[in-house]
Amino acid sequence: MASDTIVVIGGGPAGLEAARGVAELGGKAVLVEMEAFLGGTPIREHYAALTPHFQSAEEAMGGLIEGVTSQPGVEVLLEHQVTACTGEAPDFSVTVTGPDGERVVEAGGIIVATGFEHFDPGRETQLYGYYEFPDVLALQDLEHMLKEHNVVRPSTGLPPERICFVQCVGSRDRHIGNEYCSKVCCGVASKEAIEVRQQLPGCQVFIFYIDMRMYGYWENQIYWPAQEEYHVQYVKGIITEVLPKGDKLLVRGEDTTMGRPMEVAMDMVVLSVGMEPSKGTRSMAGILGITPNKYGFIEAVNPPLDTVSTNRRGIWACGAALGPADLEDCASSGGAAAMKAVSFLRRKPVAAG
Ligand SMILES: Cc1cc2nc3c(=O)[nH]c(=O)nc-3n(C[C@H](O)[C@H](O)[C@H](O)COP(=O)(O)OP(=O)(O)OC[C@H]3O[C@@H](n4cnc5c(N)ncnc54)[C@H](O)[C@@H]3O)c2cc1C
Ligand code: SF4
Repeated sequence: MASDTIVVIGGGPAGLEAARGVAELGGKAVLVEMEAFLGGTPIREHYAALTPHFQSAEEAMGGLIEGVTSQPGVEVLLEHQVTACTGEAPDFSVTVTGPDGERVVEAGGIIVATGFEHFDPGRETQLYGYYEFPDVLALQDLEHMLKEHNVVRPSTGLPPERICFVQCVGSRDRHIGNEYCSKVCCGVASKEAIEVRQQLPGCQVFIFYIDMRMYGYWENQIYWPAQEEYHVQYVKGIITEVLPKGDKLLVRGEDTTMGRPMEVAMDMVVLSVGMEPSKGTRSMAGILGITPNKYGFIEAVNPPLDTVSTNRRGIWACGAALGPADLEDCASSGGAAAMKAVSFLRRKPVAAG
């Protein structure tokens, strides 16, 4: 008999919402998470406050986690990974491997929520010196400092007087094959800029951007307050290189509004790195036989109106496994995947004739 269980792979925001959705719709879910904790990248990378309301990431993820662990319909398997899958919907046999060995879960359907990883700024864009100069950070490094209320130059341990953000690192870049926009980094950089100004009111903060891409209401919620209340300085320009100069960093590029070269000295540079598919997302595509797109994210087969169905019947994807996504996207696609999975298992065969 077909199983009424849905296996949800990945316990980040999208997978948590999917597992909760399955249980609230009266289904059963087995949530498989490779880490020893739930909450996904916001917890693993110690994000501080979240857009747009500056709610603590820990608190927000805590609410999502509680919504899952309080459901009797969800079994959570931490430190487990899906290592094999055989059969067809609704009769999948999913092999799950953890510290105590292997177990096979019979599943009617599968939801993939294995998320993203940050673009590695040392990989192709060597000219920013991420691995060479201690005061060059990425967004997630600054999140960690903000969370600890300890924004200091790693080279000196002292608070910076001038910080800049460099947008679109690893995104919108045809040379490295990531032509897509990572959606969240303009909002996240602006949010971090506000937090720096709150924690270090004497620090000047600059954002160098190609064009600012704010998400829906984030324009009013983050972008304008950053300028008007917190005096963050937005400069339209392309940064090509970061070099050491004395005890400062020299940021070189072109001011595209003025159409002239630009060189400015900073104490800290923060690279607004984009999103790439996580290793789990890439490996799940192979193990489950679902088609990735050319960037390695999972391809939704019927967008824009169905963003969660994959090329395999009975397998859906949600969140950043599908491509760059913010938390609202994750909640929406997680809920949509849960709804499709439960309704798929409940669908009655139509009588012939
Ligand atoms: C610096 C930064 C700050 C951000 N801040 C905000 C913000 O303020 N507001 C906002 O809306 N968005 C923000 N985002 C975006 C937000 O982090 C993502 O939208 C969200 O984390 C995606 O959730 P997800 O569940 O799809 O993936 P993830 O959060 O990446 O979670 C995926 C989960 O799957 C697990 N996993 C992976 N592979 C496997 C496997 N093989 N087996 C089992 N488990 C696996 C991982 O361990 C992880 O727990 C930010 C992004 C960045 C880069
Ligand atoms: S959100 Fe902004 S920083 Fe991120 S890729 Fe898009 S335009 Fe660039």
